[in-house]
Order: sequence, then structure tokens, then C-alpha cells
Amino acid sequence: MPSRLGVVTILGLTVLVLTGCQNVPLTGRQQLALIPPNQMMAQASQAYGEFMQQARIIQGTREDQMVQRVGRRIQHAVERYMTEHNLAGQLHGYQWQFALVDDAKTPNAFCMPGGKIVVYTGILPLTRDEEGLAAVLGHEVAHAIAQHGSERASQKMLASAAGAAVSSVAAGAVTKSSSAADQAKVKLLAAGFGAAATYGVLMPYSRLHESEADRMGMHFMALAGYDPHKAVDLWARFKVVAHKGKQVPPEFFSTHPSDDTRITQNQATLPEVLPIYQANLPRRLAEEK
Ligand SMILES: [Zn+2]
Repeated sequence: MPSRLGVVTILGLTVLVLTGCQNVPLTGRQQLALIPPNQMMAQASQAYGEFMQQARIIQGTREDQMVQRVGRRIQHAVERYMTEHNLAGQLHGYQWQFALVDDAKTPNAFCMPGGKIVVYTGILPLTRDEEGLAAVLGHEVAHAIAQHGSERASQKMLASAAGAAVSSVAAGAVTKSSSAADQAKVKLLAAGFGAAATYGVLMPYSRLHESEADRMGMHFMALAGYDPHKAVDLWARFKVVAHKGKQVPPEFFSTHPSDDTRITQNQATLPEVLPIYQANLPRRLAEEK
């Protein structure tokens, strides 16, 4: 018999999930949003500040100027898109920052909630030129706009709350004979739930987030007047480097697996974004004059 507390907790969690949902801009996917955006952004802002204090930041070089130029152009393109789709309110609290960090051994870039984006110099040989960099920045900006960090935090919160409910239900079942063996079973059950949540929910979501960031990123780079073919080329280059191995630390590839599926998906996105690129290229060329 499940304990009453367990049942109430599960009901409470169900209500939380039903009310704590929102739609991702552009893709329209429903996502879990249990944490207030200002709370996520405040935490990210603090973490970013701490990161920047110990990072070797490059400022004023040609490469940094390129990061700032491409970053701002994509930021402005996204702001136009959100305004045109009556979604500008969702950008409330965003403070976009683009930083180039000196670390030739790290071929990576990342984003934090609220629009803090970091590019390591180690990724520049792979991005090659301005449009390759636009593919990476479009992808990172997309993670920020889609609030993937907040969604993962919400899923973890829910998984641990549900895990606690599972153990309370299980604990209710063994109270009468709370032998050490039974208690161990309860612990195993709760741990098993944690592993199931990680591998059953959180890991597939990380792949889903990557696909979503690729598609949204290609839209955003096209809106900024950058050729989205360059995103397909970029991930194909990553695949080659990843398969050569050793030259590059594996961390980027564990979070950004570049395989045939990813490349095929991005090729399939091209027909929807090429007209957007063609419509927005003149604006970029005019700005560059
Ligand atoms: Zn990513």
C-alpha cells in the first residue's frame, strides 16, 4: 500500500508539471519550466562573474572583434525575431555578453542562462571564418533563447522530488519490518530511480536540446545574414576531428556529438532557412560597408 504522503506528493508533482510548462520559441515544443527565469539568470550572472575572474579574457584583438561583431549581429537578429513574433517579453532580464577566452587546447563554446556566451580560442581553427563562428554562436544563442539550462534544472528538480516520493512510498511499505535488508532495498529503489531519471530522461533531453539548438541556431544565423550551409560544414568538420581522436579533448564531443544523424538533420533544415538567409544577406552587407 502506498503511503498517503507518497500519493499526495505524486499528485502535487503532477499539478506542478501541468502548470509549470511553456513553449520554446520557434520550435513550439512544450518544455518544463519550474524555476523562475530571474532566479536562473541571477545564479548564472554570479557563476559567469566568477568564471570571468579566473579566465584569461582576450579583448580588442581581431579575433575578439570578430566574436563581438558576430555575437551582436546574431543577438540583434534574435531580438528582431522575438519582437516580430510578440515574444520580446521573454527576453526580459537578458544581458548579452560575448567573451573570447585564451585556451587553445579547448575547442569549445558554452552559454549560460540570460545570454552569457563564452568562446575558447581553441574552437577558432575549427570555425575557420566569420560564418563558421556564426554557426557556433547561433547554436549557443539558441540554447539561451530555448532556456535549455533552466529546463534541465527543472527536470533534475522534478526527478529528485519524484525520487523522494518513490522512496517515501517504498518506505511506507517496509515500516512494519524495517530490517536493515528492507532499508537497503528502499535505498536501492531510490538510487535506481535516480539512474533511470538520468539515463531515461535527462540524457535523451540533452540530445534533443542539441538538435533543437542546431535548428534554431541555423535560423538565427540566417536572420543575421550568415550562410546556414556553413553550419552543416562545421559539424561535418567536427565529425572528422572527433574520429581522428586524440588531437582534441573528448569533452566537447560528449556534449556535442557530431555524427551522421546530426549532419543529416542539419541538411534537412537548410530548405527552411535558406530563404531567410537570402532575405537578410543585403542587411549584413550594408552594415559591413
Ligand atoms: Zn550545444
